[in-house]
Amino acid sequence: MLTEAEALERVLSRITPGPIVDLPLPDALGRFCARDFLATVPIPGFDNSMMDGYAVHAMETTGQGKIVVVGEQPAGLDLQLQCAPGHAIRIFTGAPMPAGADAVIMQEDVEREGDVIACREPVEPGENLRRAGADLCPGQIMLRRGEKITPGRIGLLASQGHVSIAVHETPRVAVLSTGDELVPPGSGPLQSGQIYNSNGFMLQALLAELGILETSMVHCRDTLADTVCTLRTLMERSDMIVLSGGVSVGDHDHIKSALLELGISPDLWRVKVKPGKPFLFAQTTRATNARPVFIFGLPGNPVSSFVTFQLFVRPAVLRWMGAADVLPPRLPATVSTALCNDGNRPHYLRGVLRDGRFHVAGLQQSHALFALSQANSLLRLDEGQRIAAGETTMVISL
Ligand code: AMP
Ligand code: MG
Repeated sequence: MLTEAEALERVLSRITPGPIVDLPLPDALGRFCARDFLATVPIPGFDNSMMDGYAVHAMETTGQGKIVVVGEQPAGLDLQLQCAPGHAIRIFTGAPMPAGADAVIMQEDVEREGDVIACREPVEPGENLRRAGADLCPGQIMLRRGEKITPGRIGLLASQGHVSIAVHETPRVAVLSTGDELVPPGSGPLQSGQIYNSNGFMLQALLAELGILETSMVHCRDTLADTVCTLRTLMERSDMIVLSGGVSVGDHDHIKSALLELGISPDLWRVKVKPGKPFLFAQTTRATNARPVFIFGLPGNPVSSFVTFQLFVRPAVLRWMGAADVLPPRLPATVSTALCNDGNRPHYLRGVLRDGRFHVAGLQQSHALFALSQANSLLRLDEGQRIAAGETTMVISL
């Protein structure tokens, strides 16, 4: 059986970033940059005032001498004013500095009578000035390939005059749930033995968190014929199929045999991890397109589906979307109670991380969806590992 690290390596080794598309800035939020971007406009763009006040010669602000205000420069077009010795220019935040002046004195620090100001506090040369290029210079790399487009980066791109940006497309993902016991929520009361399909919605939501807002939700019955037929149809219109259930060894688990019937042998099946052992990964090409289709077979138990999504599907989707960093964010946590794993597989505990402390969230079994719903982090316990109460370790932040 593969370790998680081997399984993830195998999945990621098959996936390359999807096609590049130029998106308007607002639509690019959460996507990943498809190339390096160099700055063309410095930040600040020109020397300008940090305050509402007066552009002055700093050395003239130390004595009792009067300074004459000879002009006004608001934010906007540079009026090309000159500040000769003994003169000041009324200036406002963001306005270009007049030639000759080397500092700005805040309006609160002067006494003004008519056109004359007296300085209450001296200023140093350069004070209250923002120098051109102090933050970013033309030619500097401002955004790298694979970096996420955040609101701050959208602002940065706009500040450079861009209205769109090259990012990677999102994959077309189908979410397939399998199982004769499943009925769609909203379809009426459950009969004995039935459950509502929760994985479909949970997986759709996990994909939405990655920016994949449109997924097709499909269900198939526990027959080989329906499984083969459904997979064949989905393969024609998806880049990824994320399915749940039917990947174990039961008589009604048909995913593996359906794939074999379609001529697809899984790249991996079964991983040394708890929960999530039956995880399956396969790839195939479809008739109409040279790009491969990736198939992720997640175990049906909701917690197993959730954890294997985090461990294997999330990094794969992010790689497809062109992200440089595909691993989950980790945070330090002090465990509130002693934890141990006496099993023979690494165990991902679901828990609540609050104020730096990790508390196990409820029942730690693979069907315990309520406990999972309370969790905001995963703590990995290696086989045989013990962590004493009060010890600090790293946890995956969800
Ligand atoms: P399976 O992997 O198909 O053997 O399913 C394992 C367990 O997960 C069974 O108890 C199923 O009823 C449950 N399960 C499978 N699919 C779903 C689903 N879409 N939503 C909720 N539970 C499911
Ligand atoms: Mg099943």
